Amino acid sequence: MLSKSKYTRGINCQKSLWLYVHKSEERLVSESSYAVMSQGTNVGELACGYFPGGKMAVLEDYPWIESVERTQEFIRQGVETIYEATFIFDDVLVAVDILHKKDGKWSLYEVKSTNSVKPQHIKDVAVQYYVLKGCGLDLEDAFLMHLNRDYVRHGDLDINQLFLPESVLAHIIPLQQDIASNLGLLREMLENEEPDIQMGGQCSSPYACDFQAYCSRLVPAVEQEIKVLSSLPEVKEAEVKAFVEKVQYPLHHLDFETIMPVVPMFDESRPYQAIPFQYSLHCQEKEGGEIAHYAYLAESNPAIDPRISLIKQMIEQTKNATTIFMYSPYERTMINQMKRDFPAYADELQFIVDKLVDLIVPFRKKYYKTETMEGSASIKKVLPAICPELSYSDLEIGDGMTASNSFLELYSRSDEQYIATTRENLLKYCHLDTLAMVKVFEVLQGV
Ligand code: SF4
Repeated sequence: MLSKSKYTRGINCQKSLWLYVHKSEERLVSESSYAVMSQGTNVGELACGYFPGGKMAVLEDYPWIESVERTQEFIRQGVETIYEATFIFDDVLVAVDILHKKDGKWSLYEVKSTNSVKPQHIKDVAVQYYVLKGCGLDLEDAFLMHLNRDYVRHGDLDINQLFLPESVLAHIIPLQQDIASNLGLLREMLENEEPDIQMGGQCSSPYACDFQAYCSRLVPAVEQEIKVLSSLPEVKEAEVKAFVEKVQYPLHHLDFETIMPVVPMFDESRPYQAIPFQYSLHCQEKEGGEIAHYAYLAESNPAIDPRISLIKQMIEQTKNATTIFMYSPYERTMINQMKRDFPAYADELQFIVDKLVDLIVPFRKKYYKTETMEGSASIKKVLPAICPELSYSDLEIGDGMTASNSFLELYSRSDEQYIATTRENLLKYCHLDTLAMVKVFEVLQGV
């Protein structure tokens, strides 16, 4: 039997469905995909609160067929909201996130943990509509229920504001005529040998396919010309000197790490808003002088907004700065968001914004470049090219995404040793980010 998820998988890439059915042992689900799936499950559970008091059709360890029977039983009993309402038609099984009856007519609601309707969602809802209509349900409308990007949390979560149901009926009706023939094609394909489909855009969009490792192994190895990249810099001296001369001491180097909770965890935050939880700050009073280091790392306590203490400490530790280096405009964006969300600190935060200078500029404008940077101005490319003695490769946490996921993970952990080790790794990672900036600027000063 096909399911909604198998259908959408097969529509995106027939080979992916074939492998899922016949070679599932080759499937490789990344840690970040598990994290996304788990966040999606949480959002799905929260969305049930939009229509409270409903009945759950799917029970743990129950076979699907029982869920189908429970759904029919609920409908017969006059239940008006059914979660995971399960139906089978044309040998396709679907479980509708929320089925809700209003004024005697049913509507289906598919919940997604995104901020808007995406094209891939339409195919997903279209097959649900096909099955429910095929089962003879009096279905009036079909909604995609996504997060409301404008919702700002104040106190308890307001589920009615957090979610935004959008009717997608007009988009799914034209797709209905193709679903039966698509199903036929997929079933026939599954009876045959593994389809010969080349890797392409479908492997990463709309989702990262979990068979990429398998398919990559099948791509014949192409003999690659080994090119030796030069690490000798090409420097536009006048431009670099002009950049350096504008910098005034005391000089600070600032870098944030952030989390992006799908559902706002704190007051004054929105779905997917980046929340700084950590910074590293290197400070130098005068050229050639001693370099001091400061760090902030919030407690992973969901009752405490990490930004409040961060703001207070950052204001205190930057009050003497004349120049504050950031690497890319991200820090400016974060501080401007803090100004909006915590107006009580707006003046002091503006003081910091006024002193920000983007250290990426000489690299982005190619005043200083080497072949080993491969055209990138990212600190991860610039640092090994000009300060090979500093490296992220020895760190347990070596990139911003891992730092973010590691800190989010701490909210659900109570193992003290694990928490202590993770915090130490986070501190090391963020420290290297600003130390790298110190070293990069020293190289520019040497031009
Ligand atoms: S990796 Fe690409 S080609 Fe291979 S199954 Fe997945 S989507 Fe299809």
